[in-house]
Order: sequence, then C-alpha cells, then structure tokens
Amino acid sequence: MRLLVVEDDPSIAGPLCTGLRREGFVVDHVATGASALEAAPSDLVLLDLGLPDVDGRVVCREMRAISNVPIIVVTARGEEIDRVALLELGADDYVVKPFGFRELVARIGAVLRRTAPTGAPADKKASIEVGGLRVDTRTHQVTLNGDPLLLTPKEYDLLAYLAGDIGAVRTRDEIIHDVWDENWWGSTKTLDVHIASLRKKIGAARIVTVRSVGFVLIDPEPDQ
Ligand code: CA
Repeated sequence: MRLLVVEDDPSIAGPLCTGLRREGFVVDHVATGASALEAAPSDLVLLDLGLPDVDGRVVCREMRAISNVPIIVVTARGEEIDRVALLELGADDYVVKPFGFRELVARIGAVLRRTAPTGAPADKKASIEVGGLRVDTRTHQVTLNGDPLLLTPKEYDLLAYLAGDIGAVRTRDEIIHDVWDENWWGSTKTLDVHIASLRKKIGAARIVTVRSVGFVLIDPEPDQ
C-alpha cells in the first residue's frame, strides 16, 4: 500500500512518515499542494489542510476531480471544521492534530478496508446493471451509458448498497448503519450530502426519496 503524506511541517511529517513506513506502508512525502497534485498515484492520501501554497481544501477538490483515491484530511486543532464541506470536497475521513499515531493507523486501515475492491462471492453478480447504469462490484467501476463515472469511495459504497436491491426502499437507518460502519461523521446530514452528490453524477431521477423513510434506486426509464 502506497500512501501520500501531504504535510508542510517537518516536525510532524518526519516522525509520521517513519512510523507509517514501520507499519509496512510505502510512503511518499510532499510539503506543498502543488507537488501533491503532481505526485505519483497512491492508495490513500493524508492531506494537511494548512499548506503553504494552496489551501488544502482546493487540493482535496482538485485531487478528487481527477482520482477516486481515498483522502483523509488532517486539520489543526481549533481550525473550524465544516464536516459537510469536507464531504462535498470528497474527503473520506479526517483527523484533528495532535492525533495519536495508533488512531491514525486505525483510521487508515478502516478507510482502506471500506474502499478496497473486494472479491465478490462466486454466487454474487459481479456487476449490476440498471437502465444504462452499470456497477461493477469487483473493480468498483461505475459507468453510465458506457461512460466511466468518477465516484468518491463513499458515493460508490452508497450506490453499490442501493444497487444491491434495485427497487427496494432502504431506510435511512439501514443505510447509515450498513454504509457508514463507523458513524464517524455523526450527522444524518452526511447521507443527504452523498445522495445529492450521487444524484448529480448518475442523474437525479435514479434515486427516489421516500419521504421520512429512505431511498430507493430505480430505472428511470424502464421501457427503453
Ligand atoms: Ca500545515
């Protein structure tokens, strides 16, 4: 597993990279937003928000625009954290400085587990198709009418979950429980943010809101 650490403070970056290498990760370190955006592809990005050249939020958004790599945002204590804004930028999780190293490693493990393509059981369909939308559960690739869609890991999880039972209403509680296994973001607003961003990408009509119950994935044009 290759990690990209984006951190300008050498007193944090040094021990952090050393510790992560000891955990068995291959670690690339960059100290600016510009070099983060030019870095080689990695399996996960640890992104400090307070960078000398570009705001970490901008880096997060730009990274997300070109890649679905999991991103854990690192923020300074006292820095105002807008969880919803971070989600909208495409962050998968965040930690607040100063953080414990074990806690960080656990977070990295959790994010990687959630986002890793898993071998689907043999009796499970490897891909699900509904009205031109195709979800490949082996590779985590999603295409719409043949065009690849770039989803964040969480958007993918949510879509794959809804696609697991097309036409069935999933309650908000079920979705929060099954897709957000750690409840890290706390608020159920999280779910609405992800539904909204997913709708933008796959088409609003595909996810129907069942008022005060939950959501259902449908084929918007079943006769075509
Ligand atoms: Ca910093």
